[in-house]
Amino acid sequence: MRTHKKRPASVTCPECHSRFAVKPHGRVPKFCCQRCRQRAAEKRKWLRPAPLVAIAHDIESARSRAAIREEAWLLLKQMRLMGPKAHPCENVR
Ligand SMILES: [Zn+2]
Repeated sequence: MRTHKKRPASVTCPECHSRFAVKPHGRVPKFCCQRCRQRAAEKRKWLRPAPLVAIAHDIESARSRAAIREEAWLLLKQMRLMGPKAHPCENVR
C-alpha cells in the first residue's frame, strides 16, 4: 500500500527561492524552471573535487602520515623504547 502524502499547492525553488504553484497532476517539481534546475546541477558539478585534486590530497595525507610515523619512531628511540633494528617502516611495507 502506498502512503499518500498530501500534495503541496506550491513549493519554494531552492535555487532562486521563489514560490511557485504545483500542477494538480504529475511529479512535484523541485525547481521553478529549467534554468534553475540547470544552475543547481552546475553548482553541484563545481562542488565536486576534480579527480586530480583528490589524488593530490591522498598523496599529501600519505606523506604527512609517513612524517608523523618517522617523528614518533625518533621519539621512541630517544626514550629507548625501541631498539635501532625495529624501524616501523620495515614492517609496514
Ligand atoms: Zn527558481
